[in-house]
Amino acid sequence: MKQKKIPMRRCVGCYESKPKRELLRIVRTTEGSIVLDSTGKQNGRGAYLCNNPECLDKMIKGNKLSREFETTVLRETYESLVEQFKKLTKVDDSKSGGGAVE
Ligand SMILES: [Zn+2]
Repeated sequence: MKQKKIPMRRCVGCYESKPKRELLRIVRTTEGSIVLDSTGKQNGRGAYLCNNPECLDKMIKGNKLSREFETTVLRETYESLVEQFKKLTKVDDSKSGGGAVE
């Protein structure tokens, strides 16, 4: 039996190497915006993150993306990533009645 080699990537939060498909991809697009790449196929420089809010937290607190992408990552960029992360991982916020709170 042939064994397939599983591509491993390192999480920018905890620095553990995990199978690529278990990680979320964050990409700095050719236009310079930083987004969560839900398709895994977007062009640009990629970073990987566990599907884990703790890693997201570590990434933000340590400003890991600035280092990873060698650029300044604004707080609002991180905030936007948190929103995308929540949507992607479908965190059930049962306490809120829904809708945007200002
Ligand atoms: Zn991690």
